Formats: sequence, structure tokens, C-alpha cells
Amino acid sequence: MQLIDGKKISLEIQESIREEVKKINSNGGKQPHLAAILVGNDGGSETYVASKIKACDNIGYKSTLLRFPEYVTEEKLLMAVEELNNNADVDGFIVQLPLPRHINEHKVIEAIKPSKDVDGFHPINVGRMVLNLPCYVSATPYGIVQLLEKYHIETSGKHCVVIGRSHIVGSPMSILLAKNTSLGNCTVTLCHSKTEDLISHTQKADIIICALGSPEFLKANMIKQGAVVIDVGTTRVASTDTKSGFKLKGDVKFDEVASKCSFITPVPGGVGPMTIASLLKNTLLAAKKEIYK
Ligand code: NAP
Repeated sequence: MQLIDGKKISLEIQESIREEVKKINSNGGKQPHLAAILVGNDGGSETYVASKIKACDNIGYKSTLLRFPEYVTEEKLLMAVEELNNNADVDGFIVQLPLPRHINEHKVIEAIKPSKDVDGFHPINVGRMVLNLPCYVSATPYGIVQLLEKYHIETSGKHCVVIGRSHIVGSPMSILLAKNTSLGNCTVTLCHSKTEDLISHTQKADIIICALGSPEFLKANMIKQGAVVIDVGTTRVASTDTKSGFKLKGDVKFDEVASKCSFITPVPGGVGPMTIASLLKNTLLAAKKEIYK
């Protein structure tokens, strides 16, 4: 079994971006600028946004964090999105999800200019991804594809089971892996909460992507010997082992599954850091106007 070290790969990607930013600066170019909108005080969202801002600092990006209280109105949030759309200094921005229930997430995402949508959630970017056109690919699936590539994991002809069909992870993941590209060509089965006899699918899979948000859902008896297992899940559970009182749990029962795998990602330190690396990569593309002129 080989452990996939997402933290290490993410830091390598960040280092190469840092070198590129240095070159941009020394040629008198504009410092790439990522902005983030954070609504409320959800512990998970606070941590994710803080990691993104810290990564920006480390690689020489400018970053801006716009915070709003939980009770912010949809109208006010849409105004903030519009301001960022029109701010020429901001190359790309994200709205950290989930948003409070009184705010329509789709409306907010659709309000983001596709050329600044570095999370790759806007329908235009999703549609372009499906059609193989240049776009910002959704950060988590993009990070996973890069991990498979770095570890020379063959995807062509393989049977991949994706568990979870969210718009931000499972669905784009299934599309990327099924594409006729060197990092795709899988035969994909997309499972969800209505899938019958899920175990019959996972037991046949060469590659399993777990993105359902159910701690330790995937057990050893659900996979075949030598499978590649990618754990996207990050559920915060109470813990007395950490100072914060929480720790992150993946969707895979790691201790029993790992010994049966050929490759597996840990939680934390697997997919999470790659999501950040992908976001930073998309922001660089935005700063260089490589996707949208
Ligand atoms: P989500 O929107 O909550 O969707 C969960 C999906 O899992 C749904 O499609 C649901 O099916 C399916 N599902 C739930 N229970 C199931 C079951 N028992 N069997 C089969 N399918 C089941 O999830 P998400 O936003 O994609 O997030 C999934 C997990 O990944 C969460 O833990 C989240 O925190 C984590 N995440 C991590 C990163 C990272 O960077 N590491 C990024 C994003 C998300 P239905 O569609 O039928 O309801």
C-alpha cells in the first residue's frame, strides 16, 4: 500500500507557483489577487478560508477576506459579489460554501463573473468543463486528478466508483474521469443515497472516490484487493485529542481499508491540501488571463 501524500504534492505545486509569482513581480507585473467571501462563523468554513488566505501569503499572492454575519441579506451579499466582479485588482474570488439557508446559493454563484470564478462552480465553467473547453475546473476534483497523475495511477479502462453526486465534488469528478483524456478514460459509476446494493459496485471498482460526508462509511469488506481509494470526506467530529476539541474524519475506515489498497489518501493531508493548490492554480490562470481574455 502506498499512502498518497496530498500535503507534499500541494506544497510542491505551491512552490512552483511561488517561483512564477516572483517572475511576474520582477517583470513588473501585477501581484495575483484572490478574494474570499465568508458568511457566518461556521468552524469548518473559518478553517478552510484561513488555510486559503495563509497559502496566498506563502506564495506571494495578495488576498482579501470579506466577512459577513450569518444574518446578512442575499441582496447585500449579491452587492459584494458585484463589487468584486468590478474590482480590476481582484483576479479571482470565492464564496465559501455552505451559505446560510435564507440565501440562494445558486443565485450567488451565478452572480460571479465566470472569468473570476476560480472555484469553478459557475454554470459557464461547469459547462465548459463538460465540453472540454478551457475553464476553471472545480478545485477538489481537479486536485484529485492531479494526485492520480502525480502517483502515475492508471485511469484508462479502469472502473471507477464515485460515491456522492454533489455539484462541487462527485458530479464533476465523475465527468472528469469519464472524459476522453489522458487523465480520464475510466468507466464511471456514480453512486448516491438512492443507489441500491452499493457494495456490489464498490467491490468491483479499481478506483473509489468517497465524497459523501459520512465518517468511516467505506469499510474493508466493500473494496477489492488492490483498489485505489480517494477519501474526500472531511467531517468535523468532537475529539479530546486536539486543542480545538475537533478532528477531521474521512469517509473511509482508514485503519481497516488501507492494508487492502494499492493507494489511499489520508484525512487530513490527502485531498484537502490539493483543493487549496488547485484554487491557487486557477487564480494564477485568472491573473494571467489564460482562460478568459
Ligand atoms: P454533499 O453536497 O453533502 O453531498 C453528499 C452526497 O453523498 C450526495 O450526493 C448524497 O446522495 C450522497 N450520499 C449521502 N449518503 C450516502 C450514502 N449512505 N450512500 C451513498 N451516497 C450517499 O457533499 P459534498 O459537498 O460533495 O461533500 C462531501 C464530503 O466531502 C463532505 O465531508 C465535505 O466536507 C467533503 N469535502 C471535502 C473537500 C476537501 O477539499 N477535502 C471539498 C469539498 C467537500 P443524494 O444526492 O442522493 O443526497
